[in-house]
Amino acid sequence: MAGDSRIVLVLLGPPGSGKGTQAKLLSDNFNLVHISTGDLLRREVAQGTDLGKKAKIIMEKGELVPDSLVNSMLKGEIKRQDSKNGFIFDGYPRNLKQAAQLDNILKQNKLDLSWVIYFKASLNVIIQRLSGRRVCEACGANYHITNMPPKVAGRCDLCNEELIQRKDDSKDSVRKRIEVYDEQTKDLVSFYEKQLKLRVVSGDLSAQEVFKEIDKILKK
Ligand code: AMP
Repeated sequence: MAGDSRIVLVLLGPPGSGKGTQAKLLSDNFNLVHISTGDLLRREVAQGTDLGKKAKIIMEKGELVPDSLVNSMLKGEIKRQDSKNGFIFDGYPRNLKQAAQLDNILKQNKLDLSWVIYFKASLNVIIQRLSGRRVCEACGANYHITNMPPKVAGRCDLCNEELIQRKDDSKDSVRKRIEVYDEQTKDLVSFYEKQLKLRVVSGDLSAQEVFKEIDKILKK
């Protein structure tokens, strides 16, 4: 059977290009299930599972967690989630092998890839975003010390827990993550371009402006 009419989006772009912020806006506005492999891995780390223990050191260094671990975690998550309207994949795929795996997962679930949204962002914007990012470990909410500050400095608006800086947002990890992105993830841009699935947005714009661009793509 061919895929159904659900929306399936892949958000592609370097760390700090605004994928997570848009994923949240899109999932709220279009009622899509947001699947962030980074969030899922951080949850495993926080719960101290075997996968979390393996992933922790790799993530702190800014390297990629092995495909086999990420793929099986993702399959499990899709099974658990029931989405009438569709899915947003944020931070997955990260390389061509994962892209092939995503194709399989979509087929198995009778889903078709709608669009791959590529967030093109400049290096100085990425560094400014990541160095100012603060996160709530308890509920996963994201802030930025100047662009999107919490109401009370250092505290989460949603659950009042203390905000922290992700270990992999430190200078060395950021440098490594950008390097890994350039080496492995960039290939995906031409891969999806050839499939005529790629749509480019400017990750340097404000969250509202980027959302408007994506909204137009989805409503065309
Ligand atoms: P993110 O939150 O997307 O920036 O991901 C944080 C870290 O989690 C990355 O630097 C990787 O170590 C790991 N990670 C997230 N998604 C993947 C993936 N699809 N494949 C391998 N590692 C991943």
